[in-house]
Amino acid sequence: MSPTPQGQVTLVGAGPGDPELLTVKAIRAIRAATVLLVDDLVGNGVLRYARRSARIVHVGKRGGCASTPQAFIEKLMAAEASKGERVVRLKGGDPFVFGRGGEEAEHLRAQGIVVEVVNGITSGLAAATALGVPLTHRDHAHGVLMVTGHARGEDAALHWPTLAAAAAQGLTLVVYMGVARIDTLQAGLLEALPGSTPVAIVQHASLPQQRHALATLATLAETVAREGLGSPAIIVVGDVLRGLCHAGAELAQPMKHDRAA
Ligand code: SAH
Repeated sequence: MSPTPQGQVTLVGAGPGDPELLTVKAIRAIRAATVLLVDDLVGNGVLRYARRSARIVHVGKRGGCASTPQAFIEKLMAAEASKGERVVRLKGGDPFVFGRGGEEAEHLRAQGIVVEVVNGITSGLAAATALGVPLTHRDHAHGVLMVTGHARGEDAALHWPTLAAAAAQGLTLVVYMGVARIDTLQAGLLEALPGSTPVAIVQHASLPQQRHALATLATLAETVAREGLGSPAIIVVGDVLRGLCHAGAELAQPMKHDRAA
């Protein structure tokens, strides 16, 4: 028998940062929330939709503070939900793409809390679109691999040569959290993909401070270092970028946010 409902938590995807990329459903949930637990990759513009009276708890690790332990976040959500608060857990991008949304939902449901999930635009998608590049293309890519460069332990780390071999079949590779271990990533991918494979690095996709660099697999690490690109960034690898690299195309600039309500 499932436990008696002990309140509700909504896991909401806040998208890549630009508040105009929020879904209508996300805005509605943020507006209704009495308690918001906010990750650090959530753009500030998104919080303008919160009620003035809402309690906003920042649980991210940037800004010099240590990351709030996951157990504390889960406990706080459960406690507030069972008091009848309308709890929203705001996560960057999509809650179910490298967002620990799965772990949190599982934990809350085990305590009898009803969990609703609202999708957000994941940063891998937003990064490619910021460059005007499709992730699939009938001539260049028949699929997409979304992977993390930062696994929980060494055992869980991805085997880059195997991934590269899959990508060589005509898949676009989208790497989240890849900048910190760029050397390993580059060396591993070069085992099965040519050095001339185009690569793009996009930092702060969709935000006014968005920056990017284009490189090849052979020049990836040196480009990241030279351009001073760091987290949060998405690395896109694959032939879908070829047109961009050849044309040196004008890239879309992120929209200014002054129109957002
Ligand atoms: N759930 C999030 C991913 C969280 S993991 C999503 O769906 O987007 C955190 C990683 O996401 C960062 O290290 C970075 O690789 C990526 N990321 C998040 N926001 C980003 C942004 N605006 N621009 C580029 N990368 C971003």
